[in-house]
Amino acid sequence: MSWIDPDFPKTATPSDRVGRVLGLNPGLMTGPGTNTYLVGERDPILIDTGGGVPGYVANLEAYLRARGWTRPSRIVLTHRHRDHMGGVAQLRERFPGVRVAKMRHRDPALPEPVDDLRDGQAVQGDGVTLIPVYTPGHASDHLCYFLVEEQALFTGDVILAGSTTVIPPADGDLTAYMTSLRRLQQLDVRRIYPAHGPVVEDGPAKIREYIEHRLLRERQILEVVGEGRATIPGIVEKIYAEVSPALHVAAAMSVESHLRALEKAGRVRERLISGAPSRWELV
Ligand SMILES: [Zn+2]
Repeated sequence: MSWIDPDFPKTATPSDRVGRVLGLNPGLMTGPGTNTYLVGERDPILIDTGGGVPGYVANLEAYLRARGWTRPSRIVLTHRHRDHMGGVAQLRERFPGVRVAKMRHRDPALPEPVDDLRDGQAVQGDGVTLIPVYTPGHASDHLCYFLVEEQALFTGDVILAGSTTVIPPADGDLTAYMTSLRRLQQLDVRRIYPAHGPVVEDGPAKIREYIEHRLLRERQILEVVGEGRATIPGIVEKIYAEVSPALHVAAAMSVESHLRALEKAGRVRERLISGAPSRWELV
């Protein structure tokens, strides 16, 4: 069971205003690789840059040429994870002077200097308007981009196609993630352009599915904790039985994020045990 599809097209043109160029970085966490998007009728805006894989720039340039374009007018990023902004340096080298922006949020050590971009601060392109939507949870600096002309949403890693997203406990926050999903529900979205996997035609159904999936995991976690002597590895083994063991490290991160959120809500507590994983119990 894998969502790494070797036949996933390296480029695609899902609409008149949107082109997709694959980051060529397939893997367990990235599926077929990170999607980067060119948005606009001419002089397109580039959303995300992939992970800095050498072949990506050639892939991007081939697609630009095929569309009669020469370069991206500017670059905006969804968040700081390496598979989204790791390509910034090579793009700056290839397109000197190109402006790069993302939300600056607790970013002391970004590998690249970037302009700040805020929630609601519209980015105008050629025949397109992108509205950044602050959606923390997967990462504390995450922006989705709403394409006004299509009522479409570039979801970055908040919503993927073919897998669910990871909520890393260090910089992620499950409560914030749920709030972000509910905020996206208010947007009247049609299509979703995810950072991994194919276009999602029914955006609202996918957002609902994501909310229900997290609520299901929460119920399952509470159930296992209620049975007693629950550790994170034990919980993962029980409720992620159908998921490839290779993904259990990522699953453990999401389980911990659930437990931290439940702890904050006063529903579970952690028992530290020296030399062994903590035990979790119901309050
Ligand atoms: Zn990410």
